[in-house]
Amino acid sequence: MAIENPRQSGPVGNWSDEDSGARIGRLLQGARSAATLSHKLALLDIEAQHRLAWHRSHFNPNQPRVPAGHPDGGQWTGQGGGIGIRLAARDKSIVGALLMAALHAAMLRIEAYRSKNGLLDLFERKIGTVTWTRLDGKDIFGSNSDSPTYKNVDRAAAEAMRRTLLAKYPDVMKTEKIGQMPNNAVFHAETTILLRAARENGGTLAGRTLEIYSDREICNHCEVVLPKVALELGNPSVTFIDKLGRRFTMRDGN
Ligand SMILES: [Zn+2]
Repeated sequence: MAIENPRQSGPVGNWSDEDSGARIGRLLQGARSAATLSHKLALLDIEAQHRLAWHRSHFNPNQPRVPAGHPDGGQWTGQGGGIGIRLAARDKSIVGALLMAALHAAMLRIEAYRSKNGLLDLFERKIGTVTWTRLDGKDIFGSNSDSPTYKNVDRAAAEAMRRTLLAKYPDVMKTEKIGQMPNNAVFHAETTILLRAARENGGTLAGRTLEIYSDREICNHCEVVLPKVALELGNPSVTFIDKLGRRFTMRDGN
């Protein structure tokens, strides 16, 4: 924060009133505290990401897990009858707490984006779906095509993607009704964010790993279409995490 002393920064507005001077001083102090807090939160976030990366490198997150909502939700399960990885209770609770903290932080970011862009109705209910990820330190959000934040460039990219998928996967994409599901999933917030991330990254996501949070559940049309979209964008490793904390990882078009 460059302004340390409001009284030295010249006459701005009415400074003759002692009360208003003190009030502005307090406001500036508050702004400095907010900046410090957000810096601390950013550091906490980096620490959490490092811990998550460490745990992911040791335990395979793609291994099947007990569905969310189940009393054992979040536990890794055995694969193909083999023996599952058994985490120490302490490690398991640390991983669980970090994943929950990351989910909570993501939902807060999405909430802030919603209020900034008016994506709440009069009753503060969410309009549409919002997705969020961070790529190279930059926040990227996605929204569905009904959202005021959805631009012409988003629609053009989604339509181009739909044309490509229709040509490549006619059986999956139902060519006889191109305006229908699951084709229309390319206009959902999940595809929007992938297309935006690719544009931010020179048109491709090849070799990248993305974790994308959504403040709704992933619909079953998206489950069909998203792996194909990701494949077209250079086959990155993408994990979608929905509002329930369920994780969907896609790679090689599946
Ligand atoms: Zn969807």
